[in-house]
Amino acid sequence: MRIALIKGDGIGVDVAEATMAIVEAALAKVGEQAPVYDEILSGAGYYKETGVDIEPGGEERAEAADAIFLGAIGLPSIRHKDGTEISPHLRLRDRFGLYAGVRPVKAYPNAPQRLADPRAAGIDLIILRESTEGLFYSAAAHNRSLVVNDDEVQDILRITRKTTTKLHDFAFNLARKRRERGKPGHLTCVDKANVFTSLAFFRKLFDEVKERHPDVPVGYNYVDAQALDLVRKPWEFDVMVTENMFGDILSDLAGGLVGGMGMAACAEIGDANGLFQPAHGSAPDIMGQDKANPLAAILSGALMLDYLAEKLERPVLADAADLINGAVEHGFEENALRPMEFGGDMGTKAVTNQLLSRISNRMPAKTSVSA
Ligand code: ATP
Repeated sequence: MRIALIKGDGIGVDVAEATMAIVEAALAKVGEQAPVYDEILSGAGYYKETGVDIEPGGEERAEAADAIFLGAIGLPSIRHKDGTEISPHLRLRDRFGLYAGVRPVKAYPNAPQRLADPRAAGIDLIILRESTEGLFYSAAAHNRSLVVNDDEVQDILRITRKTTTKLHDFAFNLARKRRERGKPGHLTCVDKANVFTSLAFFRKLFDEVKERHPDVPVGYNYVDAQALDLVRKPWEFDVMVTENMFGDILSDLAGGLVGGMGMAACAEIGDANGLFQPAHGSAPDIMGQDKANPLAAILSGALMLDYLAEKLERPVLADAADLINGAVEHGFEENALRPMEFGGDMGTKAVTNQLLSRISNRMPAKTSVSA
């Protein structure tokens, strides 16, 4: 199993190293060898030293790996001449067509709960964010905006049949997989089909793909109503599939409901490649202080093992993912995980060590809490 490892900048380095230690411990517990790492130098620090944002040949090596794990990239103090930040990972997303952005949002006991309603303890959902087109098709990095004149700028929201069909298929399969793991397995199409032709097309394609998945119960929500519902009754949702920009906004909102950035795991999956990274940035304000919460990265590591189980057809890797998810779940239940991010007393190393000892002392969990 070959992992392309990009530690990146700031706390990215710490949380990537913590994740690999946890992944190795979980693999050892299920009788598997540690992955072979291909560490690729990249990021703002690397750019400052060398003038390029990723090692020559790094993108090809990332492509050749079974999966890519990324800590975090970017430092506000180091920028290109035009003021934009160093972001080779956006290029990787484009290059590998990583259309399926999987953002799990789950409430853990003893972690901050922002809603007073006790049902908020049951929040366990996934936002599937299309990640290569939508309104981000016009992201500044792609240089596609139409600057009409000094008084007007236009951006395009692009929805294609090819990507959207793949996205919806992915969403239905994800919902089914969730149901097999004891979750509701319900899928909601989130759009604005009542106003935009592009998003009516998004919904039409959803309905076409639905025909192939009659076993998955579905619902529909306009994005504004979905934002309201994520605050009013997030516990009623399971998997939501949506356009890039909507997914960007809703996943931050939903992440806020269950703690903060240090819990926000993320998988970006394409036809042949998968990139796994915490959804947070390099957090320069706390770098080098052993304060970062490594759980977003570690939960992303579990998503990576789940992905590899399917890609390499080795179900034992999903057992290793279950082990990690179970250790996080039980660690919170017993109040043994108290990240500083939530006002607790445990830094990056303490959280990691707590999980390491839980994983090496525990049998594989029978009930999965992963995606
Ligand atoms: P980017 O644009 O690269 O995603 P950002 O500007 O959104 O980055 P982050 O680096 O994600 O910023 O950090 C935002 C805030 O959240 C910071 O104050 C940081 O300290 C905090 N934060 C982010 N990740 C973590 C973490 N893993 N543990 C603790 N605090 C974190």
